[in-house]
Amino acid sequence: MPLRSDWSERTCSLARGLDILGDPWGSLVLREIFFGNGRFDAIKTRLGVADNVLSKRLGWLLEAGLLAQRPYRDGARIRQEYVLTTKGEDALPVLNAIIIWSEKHLDAPTDNAHMRVIHNGCGLPTVSADTCSHCGSRLTAANTSWHSLTRSERPLALATAPTLDLPNESEPTA
Ligand SMILES: [Zn+2]
Repeated sequence: MPLRSDWSERTCSLARGLDILGDPWGSLVLREIFFGNGRFDAIKTRLGVADNVLSKRLGWLLEAGLLAQRPYRDGARIRQEYVLTTKGEDALPVLNAIIIWSEKHLDAPTDNAHMRVIHNGCGLPTVSADTCSHCGSRLTAANTSWHSLTRSERPLALATAPTLDLPNESEPTA
């Protein structure tokens, strides 16, 4: 999965992971898919990204097995939308960690430019990426919402990997 340079063969697992998750556009595409926004034109509109840039990231994420395609009907046409695989869903704690770290350490350009990671069970924001910092529950896409204050008034429940006959779903764990 070549990005600016290929880190996929590095001996360090952090480097190999960053080859996929270290690309800003790629991780913002994942953000959109977690928000349930899996159709090309809708992702493009939300990100304000050029067709070729988005196509390339979607291709990389498909190739890396984080996304799968699912057909949907658009009038008379059948088109493809993008959904998470379990491998993609497993990236949630990474994205949560980046959100939480940014909220703690980076200045926001406007008063409402904030995002919170919410454990649905508590309804409270967590400051831990993989377990709820209030109740200790393990956070999954199924029990987590993101509240982007610039996007919606309420937290939005995250998308999960649908149960589909996907190529990467049935591979045994090495
Ligand atoms: Zn909780």
